[in-house]
Amino acid sequence: MEKERKLLIAGNWKMNKTVAEALDLVQGLRRELAAIKEVDIVVCPPFTVLCEVSKAILDSNLRLGAQNMSENSSGAYTGEVAAGMLKEFSVRYVILGHSERRQYQKEADALIAKKALTALASSLKPIVCVGETLAEREGGNTEKVVGMQVKGSLAGISKEQMGEVVIAYEPVWAIGTGKTATTEQAQAVHAFIRKTVASLYDDATARRVRILYGGSVKPGNTRELMSQPDVDGALVGGAALEIRSFSDIVKNSI
Ligand code: PEP
Repeated sequence: MEKERKLLIAGNWKMNKTVAEALDLVQGLRRELAAIKEVDIVVCPPFTVLCEVSKAILDSNLRLGAQNMSENSSGAYTGEVAAGMLKEFSVRYVILGHSERRQYQKEADALIAKKALTALASSLKPIVCVGETLAEREGGNTEKVVGMQVKGSLAGISKEQMGEVVIAYEPVWAIGTGKTATTEQAQAVHAFIRKTVASLYDDATARRVRILYGGSVKPGNTRELMSQPDVDGALVGGAALEIRSFSDIVKNSI
């Protein structure tokens, strides 16, 4: 079935890759993926290699994303990186509210919403992550938790701005664990997220928003996940670190 939304496959490299390793990876991805026009392909390296990766993907179909940014535009915020600084390297996307940041840096929905508004004000597209833990799923609270995260993390974002926002559903129990949500589980939560966006905005906005799935996406499970009507792409962790696995995920998504 033809999707009305263009697929987006983003690789979250997390805290991995030296400059030399990053260049090897993106040069390989450029080669492997040069012919792909049907998918928006995004690589999200750590801050330390953004500059080099940005130069290496010039004039290619690869786009650049960051893994986090400050909610503030400049000033005395030691260790933080501002949206304007990312723009200098032609960064187009920024992952916000990844479950690892929610867990280790205690990022909450209100902060994520502030960051998303700052990103949008700088013409960066936020990839807003939501997802339940295993205990929350087993307690029957998936929709309650994900619904609250969606509402809280999008607070203050206008209907027009929603055109630039991407949502990533990443069940925490499936991240880096080798456990993938079944296609039915993924589709059910994606449909719920779209319904939540419709209730916050309207049907047209909900139909337009891209909702990515993340959690142990591999070349072997990509096709089935992407065949679901409300799955519009993937946020890939571990499998984004190798040329072969990431390029196969992109190719298998079509
Ligand atoms: C992630 O951290 O965004 C992720 C989905 O990781 P993995 O693909 O390794 O589960």
